[in-house]
Amino acid sequence: MNIAIVGGGIAGLAFALGLHRHGLRPTVYDAAPEFREVGVGITLLPHACRELATLGALDRLEPLGIENLESVFFNRYGQFIYRELRGRHAGHAFPELGVHRARLHATLLALARERLGPEAIRTGMRCRGYSQSASAITLEFVRADGATEHVQADIAVACDGVNSAVRAQMHPADKLCFAGINTWRGVSVFDPILTGRSYLRIGTIATGKMVIYPIVGKYDDQGRQLVNWVAEIQRDDAPMNDWNTRADLADFMPVFEDWRFDWLDVPALVRASIQMLQYPMVDRDPLPFWRDGRITLMGDAAHPMYPRGSNGSAQSLIDARTLSEALAAASAPLKAFDDYEAARREATGRVVTTNRSQPPDFIIMKADELSGGKPFNHIDDLISQEDLRQIAARYEQVAGFARPGA
Ligand SMILES: Cc1cc2nc3c(=O)[nH]c(=O)nc-3n(C[C@H](O)[C@H](O)[C@H](O)COP(=O)(O)OP(=O)(O)OC[C@H]3O[C@@H](n4cnc5c(N)ncnc54)[C@H](O)[C@@H]3O)c2cc1C
Repeated sequence: MNIAIVGGGIAGLAFALGLHRHGLRPTVYDAAPEFREVGVGITLLPHACRELATLGALDRLEPLGIENLESVFFNRYGQFIYRELRGRHAGHAFPELGVHRARLHATLLALARERLGPEAIRTGMRCRGYSQSASAITLEFVRADGATEHVQADIAVACDGVNSAVRAQMHPADKLCFAGINTWRGVSVFDPILTGRSYLRIGTIATGKMVIYPIVGKYDDQGRQLVNWVAEIQRDDAPMNDWNTRADLADFMPVFEDWRFDWLDVPALVRASIQMLQYPMVDRDPLPFWRDGRITLMGDAAHPMYPRGSNGSAQSLIDARTLSEALAAASAPLKAFDDYEAARREATGRVVTTNRSQPPDFIIMKADELSGGKPFNHIDDLISQEDLRQIAARYEQVAGFARPGA
């Protein structure tokens, strides 16, 4: 079977590796003329690590990142709300890892080139659209040199990300959803915060929120770490941030300037950045179908979601395994596409909508609601730790990484 994969990001490479496990040999076409280090930190939850282990990638990745011990929530005054153990420490078979996104991508790319051969990953191939007959699909690419190239395959899978050209052709009315939430992300060289293996959420998007976690354990001989931080602010009248371009402190720091707690100086952390980028927080509405004849969608092309629950990569990796197993097992490839869509479309749609309405930081929103947005004496005066655990558990259930026994 001749399988074309459009996009060599996390989904496309994981899918190529998944197909290779079943003896299939796809070709990956990516728009980028060459793969560069892009992005900042990424958190891989236990269900993402499970999929990476199946692909033989986890052993390579674990030493490159940090295994989180705990997740801790604070209000914007730095007051403690809720803490829980994470990953293996919470009974999962797999860890929760903080890692640089570029290292995750480079690991998958190296494995794909080793197993499929370098010629199976073609760069500088930007897909512009597709056409098809009863027996084949033709993809149209614009090459890095400007020439047009047509590629024919038996089936194709579009893994071309949040601004997917294939999705745009398949669903012309579909549009990017921006609700006024912008983000600024950076990495700082900083002393370990709390345990040095803590994933921190502080505040809410309405008043300004910070997400902070380490991604490299021992960065220098002074014991400092590489710490990833994300600032998120919702403003009704905000223009949408650019993608992946340099951030300007003036655009967001005024909100965080007085966030100096006895356990963390947030402005000092941000000012210690060695890299700072801006992104909009966007997603798209769940789709009524993913397959058009011989082509289907996967990863962010199928279900881009707010990055509020660390779930985008996990859902992409699960898509990749589900479809590679379906293609290996099915009598006909289009039946495999339908089985995959039946298993994944509604499930991922629920994660998209839950990331909008009740993401993990709903815990902080709840505490703010109960305290009227003011400092409180002790969180137990407002809500019990058990009630907060139930909020966390609800998200884990929807996203597919419920704790063993929950
Ligand atoms: C700011 C931010 C933070 C995030 N944090 C987390 C996190 O902590 N944990 C987590 O699990 N997820 C996180 N995510 C989500 C995660 O990064 C994505 O879900 C994941 O990268 C999806 O993989 P993908 O392969 O579908 O898309 P991508 O990784 O975006 O890859 C798409 C690929 O397609 C290529 N491409 C694009 N257009 C074309 C075209 N027309 N033709 C050919 N190739 C094309 C691109 O060059 C790229 O290589 C975050 C996302 C963002 C934006």
